Formats: sequence, C-alpha cells, structure tokens
Amino acid sequence: MTSELQRQIARIGLGDHLCLLYREPAEVLPAAAHFLREGLEQGGHALYVIDDHAPEVVIAALEHAGIDVERERERGALRFLTAEEYCPRGEFEPQRMLARFRALGDEMAAAGAPLVHAAVEMTWALTSEAPLDLLADYECWGNDIFQHVSGASLCMYNQERFPPAAMERLLRAHPIVVLGDEVAPNPFYEPPEVCFGSEADPALRFRWMVEQLRRARLERREREALAERAHALAAEQEARQAAEEMNRAKSRFLAFMSHELRTPLNAIMGYTELLTREVPGPISEAQRHHLERITAGSRHLLDLIDEVLDLSRVEAGRIELRPEACDGARLALDTVALVEPQARERELDLVAHIPDEPLPLRTDAPRVRQILLNLLSNAVKFTDTGSVTLEVVVEEEGLIFRVSDTGVGIDAAELEAIFDPFHRARSPGTGIRPGAGLGLAVSRRLAALLGGALSVESTPGRGSTFTLTLPLGAPSALQTA
Ligand code: ADP
Repeated sequence: MTSELQRQIARIGLGDHLCLLYREPAEVLPAAAHFLREGLEQGGHALYVIDDHAPEVVIAALEHAGIDVERERERGALRFLTAEEYCPRGEFEPQRMLARFRALGDEMAAAGAPLVHAAVEMTWALTSEAPLDLLADYECWGNDIFQHVSGASLCMYNQERFPPAAMERLLRAHPIVVLGDEVAPNPFYEPPEVCFGSEADPALRFRWMVEQLRRARLERREREALAERAHALAAEQEARQAAEEMNRAKSRFLAFMSHELRTPLNAIMGYTELLTREVPGPISEAQRHHLERITAGSRHLLDLIDEVLDLSRVEAGRIELRPEACDGARLALDTVALVEPQARERELDLVAHIPDEPLPLRTDAPRVRQILLNLLSNAVKFTDTGSVTLEVVVEEEGLIFRVSDTGVGIDAAELEAIFDPFHRARSPGTGIRPGAGLGLAVSRRLAALLGGALSVESTPGRGSTFTLTLPLGAPSALQTA
C-alpha cells in the first residue's frame, strides 16, 4: 500500500462509512489492515468480517501493518467474525440487523462508548442469501447507525461477485469511496432522507445534488490549494539549494583567490624587507619612506586577504578549531597589550578590568585572540576621545569579555547589519575609516563555532559595547595543560 493511501486512511474520522471497491481480493487487505490499525491506535476495537480471504491471510496482512494480532485478540480489542457469525444464513432482514447494531451501540455508550472500526467483506451477503435490493437499503440506513455506534466502517465489495444492478445502488449508499489509491468523497452518495424520499420529493433530491456539486467544487479547490502549496515548497527548496550551491561556489572562489593573491604579496613584502635592510645596497631616506609605505600597504592587504580567507572557510564550514586548555585572563591581557600602541597614538585611555586569578577556558585561543583584537582595534578606530575598556567577568552563561568605548557609536538600524560581510555602518560622524567590513562578520561566526556568541549595544554619539560570551572550560583542564 502506498504511504499516500495510508495517510488518507489515517484521516478517516468517526462516523465515516466507506465503500472499498475491488476486483482482486489481494487489493483490499492492506487498506483494511491500516484502517483497523487506526482504530486500535485510537484505543478502540477492531472487527473484521472474513469471507473472501482465509483467516491466516488476513492475520498475515494485519501483522504486516504493524498489529500484534495475538495480543490484541487476547485483550479482546480485535475480533474476527465469519460470514455465518455476522449474519446467519436466511436471517437477513435490514431493520432487524440495524436494530441489533443500535442496541449494541447503546450498550457501548453505557459502558463508556468505546470506538469500533469494522472492516467488513460484504460477501457475507452472498452467502447468507440476503436479497441484494434490501442490502442497499441496509447500507443506506446504516449511515444513521453512527448516532448509536461510535466508529467507522469499511465495506469491501468484490465487483466481480456482486451484480452491477446491486453495485449501482450499493455505491449510492456510501458517502466515501476507496478506489485504488484514493480515498475520496463519493459524488453519487445519497443520504437516507434523499434515497428513500426520492420518489416523493424531487425538490429534496435536487437540493442534495446542488449540495454535492458545491462540495465537489470545494474539494477541488482544496486539492488545488494543496498542489499549489506543494509546488511553492518545491520551488523554495530548489531556490535554497541553488543559493547554497552559489554560496559554496563563492567560498571556493574566495579561498582560491585569497591563496593566489597571498603568494605574490609575500614576495613583494619579502623583497621590500630586503631593500629596507639595505641587503642589495644603501638606500636614501626618501626611498626608505616609500618602502615603509609599501610595507604598510602590503600588510593591510595581507590582513584583508586573511579575513576574506577566514570568512570563506567559516562559511564553507571548513575552519578547523583546535581547542586547548587556556587562561582567559592571560588571553585578555595579551590582547590588550597588542592594541596599546594604537591607543597611545590616538591618545585614548586603554583600561583593563581583568581578574587577577586564572580563568580556565577550553577553547581555540588564537581564534579568541583574533575576535578580541578585532573588537579592541575597532573600538580604538571608532573612538576619537575618551577610553576603550576590556572587562572580563565570569557569569552564569560563561566567560564574558566586554569591550566598550566612548566613541561614535552605531545607529540602532545598523546594529545587526554590521555583522554582515562587507558592511560598514553609515553612522553620522563615522567618516571614512580603513576596513573592509569583514572583521565582525568573521568574529560573530567564529564565536558561534566556539560555542559562544557575540552581541552589541550602542548609543550613537556616546559609545558601544561588544560582548563576547564563551562557554567555561572544566577547571581541571587548565592544570592538565
Ligand atoms: P571593519 O574591519 O571595516 O572595521 P568590521 O566588520 O569590524 O569591519 O565592522 C563593521 C562596521 O561596524 C564598521 O565599518 C563600523 O562602521 C562599525 N563598527 C564596528 N565596531 C565599532 C565601534 N566600536 N564603534 C562604532 N562603530 C563600529
């Protein structure tokens, strides 16, 4: 059975009365088995009236659908009836059979109304000598039975064994049809009041037909909406895959280009250093000045290439982290020392609030240093007067590194965008300052890879605070280092 039919059967509700049309007995068992399993899973009873199949074949199909037949039979939840047990030979009389079910329903209601899913091979009617024209009446009146019996029934008709004249009326007695892989409302269905009042009241029949047309239209619209939704989902998935592939291609390209740019740049820097150290011969002061400009420019370019390479690696998930036991306090102090010359040059106070004792951390120390250095350099770069502070504290969430400055600040609208690659905030007063807008993009992604987070708060004109949170390492990790 297809999972689609299984899904449709799972949607069958209480009070549903289904007609399953088949030719080969083998076609019906999977659907019937899943129908009964639904009933059992909902905590109800399951009843199978057997005729066309040998009981062991039915049992095998139920087991295959996941029903533990022996256990369910033992606890009385699953019952098999033969055609003879369901309707003894020569005893068929629609109203008497229905009265029996009604009484059963009332009994069940009194006992807490357990649910019954009944899968009935209707060939019992052929063996019990039921008059076939009365059988359709029985089925039609049977639609009212669910006011007394809480459950659903699946009537299985072998089209090869019932004459077409009977099938035509029987089909009209079921509101839902299972045909092949489809469980669908039956457009030919007639409820008891229409079926039995048809001769007397053509207006009633006409109203019913219009109602059926309306339902069919609704059903079609629902199907179209479903198909549209499935289509939109598929398109969305395709677009996502294409975007991911593009991103991977971009990362590969960036990684390749960064690598290709690095090699000649290293050569330029190497030869510049040789010239500066006067290895090939003495140089003038003007030449030294120009060489210093070349070195500064090359270093800046190298930093940029490193950032691009980092970003492409982080985005492609190809960055290799090397966690080790380290001391967060030491890491912070070392990084502050690195920005001291820049802070002094810009006449800013560089303040460090770092605890005296070691702060054990298990992390990739060079990567943490890279993030802190980026935050501290930005703070120095975007602060014209006042101070830059690095505070390190242990809090519940982990080890917190807070870099705050008294600089230009960042507009609220830009607070998230500054973490996007190549984004440089357009805050008034920021002016043009060097940088490609990659540092924070790389830093935030690295922080996440390290199991932490990077966030920002800022007041334009007053300053910004960047907070890096990292998970704390086990204290023993530091001692074993
Ligand atoms: P860049 O390397 O160009 O500085 P970043 O990704 O590090 O790039 O920063 C992105 C942008 O965020 C910067 O161009 C700047 O506009 C803003 N920014 C970052 N840090 C600060 C700060 N401390 N104060 C004000 N603006 C900042």
